[in-house]
Amino acid sequence: MTFSLGDIRVDEIEDIETMDMTLAMVMPGVHPDELLPYLDWIEPDHYTAATATLHLTCRSFLLRHAGRVVLVDTCVGCGKARSARPAWDKRTDDRFLRNLRAAGVAPEQVDTVFCTHLHVDHVGWNTQRVDGRWVPTFPNARYLIGRSEMAHWEMQARLKGAETIAHGAFVDSVLPIVAAGQAELVDDGYQLADGLALCALAGHTPGQLGLRIDRGSTRALFCGDAMHSPVQIPHPEWATAFCTDAPTSVATRHAMFAEAVSSGRVIIPAHLRRTASFRVSEVAGAFHPTLF
Ligand SMILES: [Zn+2]
Repeated sequence: MTFSLGDIRVDEIEDIETMDMTLAMVMPGVHPDELLPYLDWIEPDHYTAATATLHLTCRSFLLRHAGRVVLVDTCVGCGKARSARPAWDKRTDDRFLRNLRAAGVAPEQVDTVFCTHLHVDHVGWNTQRVDGRWVPTFPNARYLIGRSEMAHWEMQARLKGAETIAHGAFVDSVLPIVAAGQAELVDDGYQLADGLALCALAGHTPGQLGLRIDRGSTRALFCGDAMHSPVQIPHPEWATAFCTDAPTSVATRHAMFAEAVSSGRVIIPAHLRRTASFRVSEVAGAFHPTLF
C-alpha cells in the first residue's frame, strides 16, 4: 500500500502480514468481555472474539521526499535464531526486500534507517548474513537510534548478557550497525529533514522515539509501538505486557491521542493491521478512531 502525507510518499513494506497473539498474552489485565462494545469495528481485521485473538501486522514505512529515502523500522528479518519465537526463528522468507524493490527502492538507495526502538521486531532487517557475518542491509544509510534507548539496552546487556537482549537482536541486528560506524545516536527533537522531527514516546521502552511530520497543513506521527491495537484508542489505559514501564506508556498514549484530537494529526503505529493509519476524535469523553 502507498499513501501520501502532503508531499511525502509513504510505502508500507510488509515483512509479516498477520501476527496473531491472544488478548491474554498482549494485555493480560483485560477481559475479553471488555472488547465486546468495539466488535463492529475491530472484527475481523484486528480481533477475533471467538478465540480472543488480536491480529497485528509487521511492516516498515518507506518515506520518499525531495531525494531522501527514509525507512522507519526494519521488522523481524531473515535467518536469525529466535528460539523463543518459533515463527521468527531462522526465517527464510525475504519478502521484505522484495517488497522494497517492488516499491522501486534498492537497499543501497536508503539514506536513513530510523529505529523507533530496539525490540526484536523493529530491527531485524537492519542486518543480513553475508559470508557468515551480520552486515548492514542498507550499506549507505545512517541508522538513527535513540541515545537513551541505546543506553538502556547497553545497561541491560551488561547486567544480563548481550545475547539475551531482544531475543538476540541486540547482538545480530544492532551491534553490527555500531561496529560498521553507521549508527548515529539521536535525541528528542532531532530534525531529520524540514518538518520531520523525532519525538520522545517513552513507556513501551524507556527511549522509544516517534517521527513527527509537521509540513504545511500535514500533521502525522509514526509512533512505533506506543500502541499495538486499536482497542487502546478508547482505552489508552490498557498497557501491553511488552511495555517496560506501563504507567508511562499510558501517559504517553493519552497525551498522543489528546494532541491528535486537537491538531488533526494522523497516527501511524507499527503493527496496525490492514489499516496503516487513523485520526482521533473525542466523543463523550472517550477517544474514538477513524481508521483509514
Ligand atoms: Zn516494541
